[in-house]
Amino acid sequence: MADKGSKVGSNVGGAWYVDTNCINCNLCVTTAPDNFKTNDDEGFAYVFKQPANGDELAQCEEAMGSCPVEAIGNDGD
Ligand code: SF4
Repeated sequence: MADKGSKVGSNVGGAWYVDTNCINCNLCVTTAPDNFKTNDDEGFAYVFKQPANGDELAQCEEAMGSCPVEAIGNDGD
């Protein structure tokens, strides 16, 4: 379970986020490219846009379920 108290700083505001457990495996960026990006300088992924339609939401949910370290959450502010 991701921790909304440990979000990486690059996340856009909103429900979906990546926390500091991210190991930068790139899976979420591949699964939900409209919502996740990689910050290669810092070595983590982040949410650059909240899901705005059903397709994006489904991709984000798939990414959350597939993240190997459970670093994706949707209970943010
Ligand atoms: S799937 Fe998880 S560990 Fe991999 S880049 Fe995305 S948030 Fe990080």
